[in-house]
Order: sequence, then structure tokens, then C-alpha cells
Amino acid sequence: MTILSAPHLWPASRAGATLTVDLKAIAKNYRFLRDRVGTAVCAAVVKADAYGLGAEQVAPILEREGAKEFFVAHVDEGIALRQIVSPETRITVLHGPRPGAAAECVYFGLRPVLNSLEQIDLWKREAAREGAVQEAVIQLDSGMSRFGLSWADVRKLSDDQTLLDGISLGLVMSHLACADVPASEANQIQHQRFRDMAALMPAAPLSLSASSGIFLGTDYHMDLVRPGAALYGIAPNAELPNPLQQVVSLHARVLQLRDVEVGDAVGYGLTYRPEKPRRIATVAVGYADGFSRHNSGTGCAWLGDIALPIVGRVSMDSLALDVSAVPESQLHADMYVDLIGPRRSVDDVATSAGTIGYEILTSLGGRYYREYVE
Ligand SMILES: *Cc1c(COP(=O)(O)O)cnc(C)c1O
Repeated sequence: MTILSAPHLWPASRAGATLTVDLKAIAKNYRFLRDRVGTAVCAAVVKADAYGLGAEQVAPILEREGAKEFFVAHVDEGIALRQIVSPETRITVLHGPRPGAAAECVYFGLRPVLNSLEQIDLWKREAAREGAVQEAVIQLDSGMSRFGLSWADVRKLSDDQTLLDGISLGLVMSHLACADVPASEANQIQHQRFRDMAALMPAAPLSLSASSGIFLGTDYHMDLVRPGAALYGIAPNAELPNPLQQVVSLHARVLQLRDVEVGDAVGYGLTYRPEKPRRIATVAVGYADGFSRHNSGTGCAWLGDIALPIVGRVSMDSLALDVSAVPESQLHADMYVDLIGPRRSVDDVATSAGTIGYEILTSLGGRYYREYVE
């Protein structure tokens, strides 16, 4: 007997749901974004295992579309990605090196983002140790107070250029806090501050925008854009119809059907008490699969064109749907419903759970059967 040790190897026939990742849609989204930014370089952000979709499957598709620059958050993500992409493909590590990890960056050909004077010094010393100039990206804090050099740091660098000895500056970048709200004045303020700060740095290509920033206008494209979410089908902002292709669908298995009468209640806490008799389906997806408990009593699944409201609390391994609207002839245990599908996007699930599509994607669980469509 063969023992399957990795849950993702569960066959479709035994898994509680099938997660389908449409790699063609990712390719299309990349082409759309690249065409939109014209001459700017369109990099691809594949941190957090390509937002939960699988960097091993996603990165080669993006390379095939011509992506030559990838961004990850951690050095270890970079090391893993290095085994997947071609040696010429550039990998940039957003968090930069921790003390002790600079040599790994050099060894694995990872370009760090330097977010502080300490990281700049670390990289400078690594370059000296290697006896060769090392490329890096420097991030400036244009207003988000998260990563990057402050105004005071930038002044120190411009007063003393030897601080950058041994470092070749491949890119100067910053990140927008409110790019998903096109009308926010914070966007223009950050744009201006980034330009002002970058003017004090040695000349280098500039990058300010991730997915949402691409839709703020050509001023925001600069020399390189860093989309992640948009590649995976998440809407850049709530004002436009989403111009991107949906990438993910989630077909969940019905485990059991039951009738509940007036006076009965459904799920933990007995929070759902129907006012008329209902047909309830118990489905094999729960919060341990990343389908958050915040979906309790809100949102729906779909069977074709029929909406199936989520009722009661989401359990660890299951949730309940009101399937009363489905003709009896179409109902049976082992049938599948769409928790994410043509009628319900990742963004829709996020909205009803009070979060953002990013969190839905990066929480997708390890118990699904995963299917990649090419
Ligand atoms: C995650 C991240 C991105 C990608 O952001 P999306 O909104 O997913 O496009 C780009 N730049 C930085 C610095 C990031 O942290």
C-alpha cells in the first residue's frame, strides 16, 4: 500500500474540494498588464507561493510570457524560486538580507531590496568580502511608514556617497498605501515625495506601482511595475469593472443533505433558525481550508445560476448551504457546488467575509485537490 504523505496529493475523488488554477488566465493577465504599461518593465510578484496558487506552476508560465523579473518577500522564497526559473531571470527579495543571509543572496543570485542604512551597510560589507560590486534595489519610504529609507537616511546617503561603495543601484523603489483608491490624494503626495527623494539618490530606474498603481495613470508606471494581485485576477480597485481574468475556482463537495423544519437550528451556536422548512447541504470546506469563519451566515455558493446562501457558522471542516431553491432531481450527496466560480469571484468572497481578495487567495488550504489548467 502506498501512503500519501502530502495532503495536496489527495486525489480529486477523496478531497473535499477541487481548486482549479487557470494558468492561461494568469498568462493573459500578464500580457494585459504588460501592454498597459508600454515601455516600462512588467515584473511579476510571486511571494507567498504566488499568492497561494503555487510558484512552481505559476512562475514558468510567466516566464513563457516574457517576464524576466520576479519579486519575492523572503530570501528563502528566492532560493526556492531560483530552482524553478531560468538562471538569467532576475529575482528580487523585498525584505532584503538579514544579518548572516547576505552570502546566500550572492550564492543564489538574489538581488536584495535594501530597506535601511543597516541593510545597505550589510550589503556593502558583503560586496567587499566577495571582492566584486553587488547589485541591489533601494527602497524609499514615500509615506507608508513600512519599509525603506526615511528622508534623514536619504540625506545621509547623499552627503556621503561612500556609504554605497561596492553597490550598484539597479532600481530605486517605493510603495503606495492607497493605490486602490484612485481619488485618494495620498497617491499624488507619495508620487511627488518619491520623485523628490529619488532625486537625491544616484541615477537608477524607478518603480512605484504594484497592481493598483498601474491603473492610476502612466505617471505611475515609471521604469518598472510590480503587479502581484492583478496577475491572479484580483480587481485593482472597486471603481472599474475588473479588467482582469478570473484565475481561481473552487468546487466543493456536498457530503450530506438534510431537511430542517421550523424549530430546528443549524451549526455551532445554533445561530441559523429557519422560518420555513429548508433543505440544507453540508459541504466539505471549512475554515481549516482557508474558507474563513467570517463567511458564517453571509455570502453564497452557486449551482449553475442558483444562489445557495451560506447558513449558520462555518465549521473547521464543513459549512452549510441552503439548497432549497435547487430542484430535488438535481440534489445528491457527492455533488459539487461553486464556492468560487463564474458567479462568485475571489473579491466577492472577500467582501462578504470583510477582508480583501489577497487574504482569501493566500489562505487557500492544503487539503484541496489542485488542478492546473494550461
Ligand atoms: C506585495 C507587493 C507588491 C505586489 O502588490 P500587489 O498589490 O499584489 O500587486 C509590490 N510591491 C511590494 C513592495 C509588495 O510588497
